[in-house]
Amino acid sequence: MKVINEFRVCTDCISVIANDDTSGIDSVQEERHIRRSVHALGPNLCLGDIEKTETFYPFPCDCCEALPGERFHVVQLGEK
Ligand SMILES: [Zn+2]
Repeated sequence: MKVINEFRVCTDCISVIANDDTSGIDSVQEERHIRRSVHALGPNLCLGDIEKTETFYPFPCDCCEALPGERFHVVQLGEK
């Protein structure tokens, strides 16, 4: 398996990707949106380089399109 893609995702998305944890998400609609977005990114997602965490990243979340803010590095593994 190799890294075939990388993303910058928000706190909510990283909780779902890394721990399947939705406790920080405010509403059911929001949770549904995040889960759908994570699913749409594709399979084999995992936490990337912790050194690449940004306290403020001036672009929307690559996953759920949340407003600019804290971002975590996520990689997608696959065959290539
Ligand atoms: Zn997000």
